[in-house]
Amino acid sequence: MALLEGKIVAAAQEEKLRAQIRELSVQPGLAVILAGEDGPSKIYVRRKQEACERVGMHSEMVLLPGDVSETMLLSEVERLNQDPKIHGILVQLPLPPQIDAKRVLEAIAPEKDVDGFHPLNAGYLLTGTPKQVPCTPLGILHLLKHYEIPLAGKQALVIGRSNIVGKPMALLLLQENATVTLAHSRTQNLSELTQKADIIVAAVGQAQLVTGEMVKDGVVVVDVGMNRMDGKLCGDVDFDSVAPKAAWITPVPGGVGPMTIATLLYNTVKAAQENQA
Ligand code: NAP
Repeated sequence: MALLEGKIVAAAQEEKLRAQIRELSVQPGLAVILAGEDGPSKIYVRRKQEACERVGMHSEMVLLPGDVSETMLLSEVERLNQDPKIHGILVQLPLPPQIDAKRVLEAIAPEKDVDGFHPLNAGYLLTGTPKQVPCTPLGILHLLKHYEIPLAGKQALVIGRSNIVGKPMALLLLQENATVTLAHSRTQNLSELTQKADIIVAAVGQAQLVTGEMVKDGVVVVDVGMNRMDGKLCGDVDFDSVAPKAAWITPVPGGVGPMTIATLLYNTVKAAQENQA
């Protein structure tokens, strides 16, 4: 078994981006909108800001109260759409209940949509001409490529079908010529699918969903899940029973999480480069 060490690969990617940013004639800028006081969201937003600072990127944090109106939030998005210092706009989810998240995400200018959630960017990915791709699945693809994991012709199983992780992950693997199965909460006999898979990406949010007896020898396992068990962060995969059978596996923490942040920086630099051209 060998580890897919996201933390190390992400640090190397950041190093490359730092050098790239020095060469650009514009300083890439990322704006993050946070509405409300959601505890985990505040932590994620702080990590994103710190990452911007590490690579020499401009960052702007827009803090709005939890009872902010949709009109007010949309006007902030519009202001950032027009701001030439900002190349990437990210609205931290979840949004407070009075806000229609779909409406807000659709208001972001597609070329500044570094989270890749705008329907236009989702459509580009679906039709095989990706532009801005959601950070977590793209980060996973970068991680698999870094370790030269073969994907073409492999049986890949993605567990979870969210617009943020599962669906775009399935599309990226399909584009790499894997044979992709997408499982979800209504899937019957999940272990029949896991047994056949050469590559498993688990993005569910359920601790110990995938166990050692469900996988075949030599499997490549990417664990996206972020769960708390007895106060400890763990993924969707029972690492202790799966790792001895796996050829490659991501640790939690230190696997997918750091790749997500590095890919957000990557997407913002790409947006700035395209804007410069
Ligand atoms: P989500 O929107 O809640 O989606 C979860 C998916 O899992 C749904 O498609 C659901 O199916 C499916 N599911 C639920 N129970 C299942 C079961 N027993 N068997 C098979 N599929 C099942 O979650 P998400 O946003 O995709 O996130 C998934 C996990 O990844 C969470 O733990 C989240 O915290 C983590 N995450 C980590 C990162 C990172 O950077 N490390 C980034 C994003 C997310 P239905 O569609 O049928 O309901």
